[in-house]
Amino acid sequence: MKAVRNYIILLFLLLQSRPAAAAPAAYDLYLKGELLQAASAYSALAAESPSEARPLLNASMCLRQAGRYYEAAGVMVRALERDPHNPDIYSELGWLRFHQADYDGARSAFETAIRIQALHSRAELGLASVYSNLEDKERTMAHLEKYRQLRPDFAGVDYILAWNYMNFSMHKEAETALIEALRKDPSFTEARLPLAGIYARQGKFDEAWNQYHRVLAYAPGHPVASSMMKVLEGKLSKQPEEIRPPFRITKPLVMEPVDALASLSSSVRIRVGIGTGNTGKQGSNNLLKIKSFEGMTVTGKASKKLFATIPPDQAWLVTAEDNKVVLKDAAGTVYGRFAGPILVKPVKASGSVIFDADPRTKNAFFRWSDRQYRGYIELYPNGGRGIGVVNVVENELYLLGVVPSEVAPQWPYESLKAQAVIARTQVLIRRARGGQHKADGYHLCDGQHCQAYKGKSIEANTTTRAVIDTEGEILTYHGRPAYTFYHSNCGGWIQASKEVTGWGDSPYLVTKADGHPDKSEKAMDPWDWHLWITGNPPANCNYPGRVRASEYRWMKIIRYKDMTFRINRDYKIGELVDIVPLRRSPSGNVNTLKLVGRKKTVTVTREHLIRNLLGFSSLKSTLFDIEVNRFKNGKVRNYWLYGGGWGHAIGLCQSGAAGLAGKYDKKYREILEFYFPGTGIRQIKYVKKTK
Ligand SMILES: [Zn+2]
Ligand SMILES: [Zn+2]
Repeated sequence: MKAVRNYIILLFLLLQSRPAAAAPAAYDLYLKGELLQAASAYSALAAESPSEARPLLNASMCLRQAGRYYEAAGVMVRALERDPHNPDIYSELGWLRFHQADYDGARSAFETAIRIQALHSRAELGLASVYSNLEDKERTMAHLEKYRQLRPDFAGVDYILAWNYMNFSMHKEAETALIEALRKDPSFTEARLPLAGIYARQGKFDEAWNQYHRVLAYAPGHPVASSMMKVLEGKLSKQPEEIRPPFRITKPLVMEPVDALASLSSSVRIRVGIGTGNTGKQGSNNLLKIKSFEGMTVTGKASKKLFATIPPDQAWLVTAEDNKVVLKDAAGTVYGRFAGPILVKPVKASGSVIFDADPRTKNAFFRWSDRQYRGYIELYPNGGRGIGVVNVVENELYLLGVVPSEVAPQWPYESLKAQAVIARTQVLIRRARGGQHKADGYHLCDGQHCQAYKGKSIEANTTTRAVIDTEGEILTYHGRPAYTFYHSNCGGWIQASKEVTGWGDSPYLVTKADGHPDKSEKAMDPWDWHLWITGNPPANCNYPGRVRASEYRWMKIIRYKDMTFRINRDYKIGELVDIVPLRRSPSGNVNTLKLVGRKKTVTVTREHLIRNLLGFSSLKSTLFDIEVNRFKNGKVRNYWLYGGGWGHAIGLCQSGAAGLAGKYDKKYREILEFYFPGTGIRQIKYVKKTK
């Protein structure tokens, strides 16, 4: 009897464990990008639990990602039999039909969703898109207006509005919508090109030029923007510097009551490459104008010989000629031609060196803004590339310029301290290892490539205080400096470094929800994830008022032709046939992307390559879902990208750190423990080098 009962229990356990074991299998297949197998596994689960809609919804999402929209819609209809009052299912069924150009079918599904739930944002957007394709202007705009009310901060709304206005040739309205999209998201490069086009058409050449100029700031070398700027240059009514006045530094920055120099002890000197490009290399500096408020000296680095003393407020010229650095005073008198490095040093420790913006300078960094640095500047002939510029500055003083370049000084104070600690840790790792810029002759560049550093003019009291309050503190793991990777906004989930090709496997760089600090959240299945990425879910980094909504959620619609063109810039695959996300982190980040072309198929695994490939300039992140939109004849019309976050989503989420400090009152040590579990803070003593 007992044996029989045990047998029954065992049988019961076996039956119980089957779905539980099959669910992770289906999910793992989905993460690996085995989408059709994942869909079958989820369908098998659906057969085992005949009352549950969820396995069918997951199967449908896998089929959709595999490009099987027709089958995906069929499975979705079966899901509705199990859960007939779920507006989300109707809405997503609507989208599956819409993308196959079944507008009547889509409309009825969207309308049902709205009947069940009056304010359903996805269904409103869906109805607007249906009516747009049916060329019903009024209804399109009415539903977009409702969508805008439901997602007021979302720059994507204005972009879609503009997209539709342009389709209806309503240029004035398109202009207004594009300006609104750019107000919410200045990095929305896709919106600048049509806006520039509208301006050019109206004969507003100065405004058009300004927009193309800004496109180039986000997408250096963009072909349309570069060629249009040349075309427009002859038609401008003003000088470029009048249309877009450079940022000027005209008087010393007085910061009370925080006196950084008096508060900080001396630390090690570091070398920072200034005015560097995307890859952290020096720009082409043909000409630089230098000045100071306090006066400065110019000496030879090797000879230590004093060549000139530059009085306060006088701007002198440095030019590159025959691979030499040439120094001239304001009147044009040559003070020296140098084949080696020269040092430009302020005469006071509290002084700084200023680069005056000058229209003759080729490097946009020095052309459009004055720049100001603590410490001193080393200038040297940089091969055929003009003048090399390195800022030699004490680490703690350098950090005064890094923290406000990386985060907003008005953010909650504890998040500024967390930023100071991780930025300091980054420097020490790069300094100790020589880093990626060893051959360039500096420890770090001044751009996103290493960490942003805009010098003295950006310093703020709050961030300066954060550096002073954490002076010498770094993050360690088992006693050694930790890899304190950070990014602007994770989109709601942090991904582990080991998920991303080339990022290594550090035990403290883990996958986790950027959510409530005292709750842990499970990774989402395909259905929940789709609703999450297309919606506006809560997260530490979803922080209205402090963080731009467009950094947390974004969207793009890319025409088929543009997508083929973009991909063929990097990979000659011929006409694009299919884009398939092959491997995702549990966070949803796409870490392998398959591109099928008429000529060949390529697989892209590097994070920055995936972003460069699909972005107009660069996609904000690899956290996205793609929907393929087709004409009635089956040809691809465009790709709809729903994305989240800005940056690689590894390590600390800067927006999330602000959220943890602001929403939950977390201290900087708790913030660091949240993003880098298992690490600790250590106070370092700088070893002073002689000389
Ligand atoms: Zn760099
Ligand atoms: Zn985040």
